Amino acid sequence: MTTLVTDIQRFSLSDGDGIRTTVFLKGCNMRCTWCHNPETISRTPELMFYRSKCIGCGKCFEVCPVGAHKLIDGEHIIDRELCKRCGKCAEACYAEALATCGKEMSVDEVMAEVRQDKAYYDNSNGGVTISGGEVLCNLEFATELAQRCKAEGISCAIETNLSFPFETIEPLIRELDQVMFDIKLFDGEAHKKHTGIPNKTLLENAYKLDKLGIPLTVRTPLIPGVTDTEENISAIAEYISGMKNLVRYELLNFNPLGESKYRGLDKENLHESARPLAEDRLAGLKACAEAKGITVKIV
Ligand code: SF4
Ligand code: SF4
Repeated sequence: MTTLVTDIQRFSLSDGDGIRTTVFLKGCNMRCTWCHNPETISRTPELMFYRSKCIGCGKCFEVCPVGAHKLIDGEHIIDRELCKRCGKCAEACYAEALATCGKEMSVDEVMAEVRQDKAYYDNSNGGVTISGGEVLCNLEFATELAQRCKAEGISCAIETNLSFPFETIEPLIRELDQVMFDIKLFDGEAHKKHTGIPNKTLLENAYKLDKLGIPLTVRTPLIPGVTDTEENISAIAEYISGMKNLVRYELLNFNPLGESKYRGLDKENLHESARPLAEDRLAGLKACAEAKGITVKIV
């Protein structure tokens, strides 16, 4: 079995306990307006163009079979309508200004990479985290990968939006040692407006998941003007405060690093001017959540 993998990040310290290898799978069912990994949303490979690295050698113009590289008013652009995502220009680009995002990989190939750091996992209580995109859009692949990790004594976790019917995801969940999931907005209308889908399923799944006895981390990305209100954080904290297996609630400060990816994909970034929250605002939101009697961490 194969799927599109956008990245395999080794020695990650922010995707679960201990030292981890995070496997990013391509494809997502949500359309969060602030996504900081926009290259993982589509289920097809994509071409990234980092203009600042381009040395103007013209190689990509020569190798493109459909003439998608164009000079318009002296500016090098990619005609995304014409591009067939064959990757030939990225292979030819010596300056690494072009990159194909999304590599078809088998479970065996992913295992060969993640296995290399087993000693680090063992010594740090770490393991593998399957992320995305949305893991559950690649359910079969993720389940087989989690089973293979378990068989080799490697702890496995997922980062998910949890918005799929519980009966379809339960077999995967049962292979895992921890689950990290997002509750971005508690208000259903606001959730639909900013992510493209309702939050009813994920909120119900949170408590179904809790019954399985797996350690859970709930996370909210703090998006200025969208999710970073005391009302939203208090409501989420209140909702999850009854979960028996909640390890902690994480508030993820806004990450502006997606900016260069939006430019590389020629996509509009709706939160271009947003910046991380200041310390005092973070402390205020943390206190709001802690008032519900749960452990809260700013990340
Ligand atoms: S091959 Fe790379 S460096 Fe050369 S013109 Fe194309 S994008 Fe620029
Ligand atoms: S990926 Fe292929 S079709 Fe697209 S611009 Fe590059 S060479 Fe042309």
